[in-house]
Amino acid sequence: FAINMNQLQLWEELGNGAYGTVKRVLHKPTNVAMAMKEIRLELDDTKLNAIIMELDILHRAVHPSIVEFYGAFFIESCVYYCMEYMDAGSLDKLYGVGVPEPVLGRIVSFMVKGLKFLKDELQIIHRDVKPTNVLVNKKGDVKLCDFGVSGQLEKSLAKTNIGCQSYMAPERIKGESQNALSTYTVSSDVWSLGLATLEIAIGKYPYPPETYSNVFAQLTAIVHGDPPELPETYSCVARNWVNTCLVKRPEGRATYAELLSHPFLQEDSRRNVDMRGWVARALQWRYTQREQQGRLRRQEQEQLH
Ligand code: ATP
Ligand code: MG
Repeated sequence: FAINMNQLQLWEELGNGAYGTVKRVLHKPTNVAMAMKEIRLELDDTKLNAIIMELDILHRAVHPSIVEFYGAFFIESCVYYCMEYMDAGSLDKLYGVGVPEPVLGRIVSFMVKGLKFLKDELQIIHRDVKPTNVLVNKKGDVKLCDFGVSGQLEKSLAKTNIGCQSYMAPERIKGESQNALSTYTVSSDVWSLGLATLEIAIGKYPYPPETYSNVFAQLTAIVHGDPPELPETYSCVARNWVNTCLVKRPEGRATYAELLSHPFLQEDSRRNVDMRGWVARALQWRYTQREQQGRLRRQEQEQLH
């Protein structure tokens, strides 16, 4: 069946990205909570229709590591995209609680399995692997979202994509001036995966903006500097695993099969990890953070008056 706006009851906003907003909604006919992403595009109806058709392939992306797709439609110049609601949100908002190595291993193992599935079964390269696109629920599931399936959508979004946190592989940054889409191979995703893993572990983006005077200096460091590494507090296996992703030459990076058979993820497959417990702690931490921030803001306002 096809989803349309009339069937949806809008709830609160879940977050904001560079291209639009994500809201929690209720799909009334089925009583299913969903996340609805709104992307504003200045395109004619033919192109918007092409995007909706291209997104249809997402109905085949059914896997435990992939956020479920429910449907898409457009109204005026906005594309609306409905997906599984993940009730613990994205990893960028949770990793601040601290990520012990077994939890890191489990998160990464979910991510690699999802990426491998997309590539092997659907010939899809993700193109946007980063902590905000890794979603978590209270059951402890970890799933990927926002992968590139629509050429038309990518083309329409590509132009504005210069952020201060780049997960782009060196070859992609170099190739950007020529043609970003053609220089992208699956190993570019492996770089982004390595960088995302590092960020989840250390609790911050590995090329911190305060170290570089501008975006150009930061991109130069990615292209010409040594790749960043996991700190020594992590085990040799974990550090080595990250190193095999963060190789500057794309041909030198590990494949998904190699990443899965690496001792780091082999260890993960043999142990029990209480992901549900970690998510509960992370949510509690986030709640306390927000309370504190709210209190500080109120104090500041009182002092102003
Ligand atoms: P960018 O625009 O650079 O891709 P982003 O991934 O943060 O950044 P969006 O994809 O628009 O931007 O998502 C905004 C936020 O909404 C995310 O950071 C995440 O916290 C939240 N979010 C997105 N999808 C879901 C979902 N299915 N369930 C729960 N929360 C979600
Ligand atoms: Mg996103």
